[in-house]
Amino acid sequence: MDSMLPFSAEHESFRAYVRGFAAAELQPRSRQWDEGAELPREAIRLLGSAGLLNILGPKSLGGQERDYVSLGIAVEELAAADISCAQIAWIQNTLSHFFPGWGDETLRSLYRGDAVLALAMSEEGAGSDVSAIQTEAVADGDDYIINGAKIHVSMMPGADVLAVSCKMATAGGKPVIGMLRVPATTAGVSSEIMEQMGARAHSLGALRFDNVRVPKAALMGGEGQGKALMYARFNVSRCMSPLAALGAANAVVKEATQFVRTKVIFGKPIGINQSISFPLVEHQTRIEAGRLLAYRALWLNDAGADASTEAAMAKWFGITISIQAINDCLPMFGANGYLKDWSVEQRLRDVMSLQFTGGTINIMKILLVRQLIGAEFAGLRS
Ligand SMILES: Cc1cc2nc3c(=O)[nH]c(=O)nc-3n(C[C@H](O)[C@H](O)[C@H](O)COP(=O)(O)OP(=O)(O)OC[C@H]3O[C@@H](n4cnc5c(N)ncnc54)[C@H](O)[C@@H]3O)c2cc1C
Repeated sequence: MDSMLPFSAEHESFRAYVRGFAAAELQPRSRQWDEGAELPREAIRLLGSAGLLNILGPKSLGGQERDYVSLGIAVEELAAADISCAQIAWIQNTLSHFFPGWGDETLRSLYRGDAVLALAMSEEGAGSDVSAIQTEAVADGDDYIINGAKIHVSMMPGADVLAVSCKMATAGGKPVIGMLRVPATTAGVSSEIMEQMGARAHSLGALRFDNVRVPKAALMGGEGQGKALMYARFNVSRCMSPLAALGAANAVVKEATQFVRTKVIFGKPIGINQSISFPLVEHQTRIEAGRLLAYRALWLNDAGADASTEAAMAKWFGITISIQAINDCLPMFGANGYLKDWSVEQRLRDVMSLQFTGGTINIMKILLVRQLIGAEFAGLRS
């Protein structure tokens, strides 16, 4: 996206690099990966060799130690070419950065694009309500034994190592939520694909854990730290989903702008009609507003400030206006916009996926009600 924001020269050159890579290497294969509807190892290796899976990682392990704004720039530019690849990149970068205990070898391998991580948190009755999980880990000598089921897990089937949120008993008797590292090949772990409408190459799956035994050393971040790990990551990942949506929406608005300049009907380019040109400039305005919100939240995160309010605003707004923009542009291409041969059809399907991941649009508004109006108005359990 052409920038109207005051990015540093380093950020601008990183943007130009990612844009070039995504247009040359990802965009031409995007349709093929969508049709394959499974985790594209080829894409992941391309992302790894382009240095797009180690953006936040420590230099000691081969990472680049860039800031969160850089990750946002990468996600925005990747999404203009392929939303699944943008999702893969932000999930791998943020899971590896915010969750401790993956192990140095796993991280090195992930940065190259050889290993893939996943976060298994959602369950049938515990999507928005992450505390309602039923998956349980029971201590047994030096091990934990996990039983339960997860759904809607990105990167599944296919991921190599999972962070699994589990209910655990404590010495005091009160159950807490812990996060356990579980290699996907551990005995008792099984998975199956959940067919999606869009973002099909990023892959979504269900998992079962039947008496899965992991050592106590697999506990990530300490006893009862599962929610704290998830929430710390949310403040950044909730800026990534709107930037992915805005990157794709901007690409569609630009293509539509080009198209309406040249498509002649009734002897005139259709862009001469204000019912066509006004929505285009309104969407461009909203897209810029959405980017400002998302980058503001990332700048705050980079400064070490609590950006939970700003991230929630960025997410509901950026995704909502992006879906509207793509939806409104599709008919400007006439019936062609609806055809599989045209990228707008895939982008509309892909962008729909972003409204759920990391908390829905309604949940973002509930968080804002809690912070801006008062906890008693949020309607959540206290
Ligand atoms: C593409 C994609 C990727 C995902 N990746 C992962 C992943 O990697 N790992 C993982 O664990 N999960 C993942 N998820 C799951 C995601 O986190 C959940 O879908 C999300 O949290 C919502 O949960 P749910 O779908 O169970 O909806 P529910 O929680 O059942 O909610 C149903 C509907 O009710 C609304 N709602 C709920 N409570 C209220 C309320 N109080 N007021 C108003 N509306 C309300 C919600 O907004 C939603 O629209 C992914 C989902 C998708 C689609």
